[in-house]
Amino acid sequence: MKTLVPTSIVGSLPKPAWLAPPETLWSPWKLESAQLLEGKQDALRISLQEQLLAGLDIVCDGEQTRQHFVTTFIEQLSGVDFENRKIVKIRDRYEASVPMVVGEVARQHAVFVEDAKFLRQQTDKPIKWALPGPLTMVDTLYDDHYKSREKLAWEFAKVLNEEARELQDAGVNIIQFDEPAFNVFFEEVNDWGMAALERAIEGLHCETAVHICYGYGIQANTDWKKTLGSEWRQYEEIFPKIQKSTIDVVSLECHNSHVPLNLLELIRGKKVMVGAIDVANSRIETPEEVASTLRKALEFVAIENLYPSTNCGMAPLARNVARGKLNALSAGAEIIRKEFSI
Ligand code: ZN
Repeated sequence: MKTLVPTSIVGSLPKPAWLAPPETLWSPWKLESAQLLEGKQDALRISLQEQLLAGLDIVCDGEQTRQHFVTTFIEQLSGVDFENRKIVKIRDRYEASVPMVVGEVARQHAVFVEDAKFLRQQTDKPIKWALPGPLTMVDTLYDDHYKSREKLAWEFAKVLNEEARELQDAGVNIIQFDEPAFNVFFEEVNDWGMAALERAIEGLHCETAVHICYGYGIQANTDWKKTLGSEWRQYEEIFPKIQKSTIDVVSLECHNSHVPLNLLELIRGKKVMVGAIDVANSRIETPEEVASTLRKALEFVAIENLYPSTNCGMAPLARNVARGKLNALSAGAEIIRKEFSI
């Protein structure tokens, strides 16, 4: 990455109302077949344009072609039954109707590669692509076949690696794996979750990132956060393992969160996508507020490793709010660049 203090978002942006009802998670598509395909591409163009207008340095698809960050990937795999769903507790926190693993999981065809090629055609900027991580995938399913979260995670890791290699060949510069489940199942992360993630990035020469957050601004997450006390030390449990791993970038929730930023000391040397935008409320940060969070992170992250970002995806926000937050992120990073005369 040549630009210093490069800005990017975690992944999702709100979809246009003509594509899917706004301010809703798992929002159903309003179009069908060929119109849906075209609609998704148009939405991707708009989402890219919003990022470019805001001056972001690393851009993405805004996740305009997916309904959900985990299930849209899983539903393209064989071995998973989407008809007979089960209700399970996700992240130990909220119940959701999820698909069921009924046989060996395999990737019969590419999932996002055409979308990534389409994005690549639209811009010369570095592009980032988000995939779900193996542990989070396992935690978003009912497994009636492997009967082992670890075994299933390894199978998913192999499938993710196939997809990641093709995304890299399509010109993706950073492949990010979303692992919100890393913040909940520490023992599994340390036993096999991180190893499975490293299997997913095996052989890649583009940059790789892991995103670990406290979730979208939905009620179940807000309620959960209230139970975490005044200091959120979840990252402390997993950072030593991440520090030893080959992952290049760690994307974290830092703004308005109760995460003590001195925990970043545990991953010193890694590039850090510092979440400096809160996605759990609609108030638009001032550039100075963004800069203030970045300054706090800079006590533990070298300037060349600082990647200003958002706490999580912005899919559930109103579009004008998301736009305001993109601009705030960009302006906040600019304040820091000026302070460092870069
Ligand atoms: Zn997140």
